[in-house]
Amino acid sequence: MIRVPISEFLEIYLGAVLFWTFAVWLISNWVRRRRDIAARRLVIRCTICGHQFRDPSQNPLTRCPACGRLNERTAYSGL
Ligand SMILES: [Zn+2]
Repeated sequence: MIRVPISEFLEIYLGAVLFWTFAVWLISNWVRRRRDIAARRLVIRCTICGHQFRDPSQNPLTRCPACGRLNERTAYSGL
């Protein structure tokens, strides 16, 4: 059995907990960000009427359901 003073054991334990908490936070943040980017690719805002709609197709041009104008698929910033 390895003898470790209680202060070193606490340092190692707290360091490991801190490391895993940071790693889980980093991974969950990365997953959420990729999900947001993927969701934004589907949202199109009409350049004429400003109507926002989702289009899951991969067509470069899509028709606005409100005014009927063809819109190019561009990255949607959200605001
Ligand atoms: Zn429109």
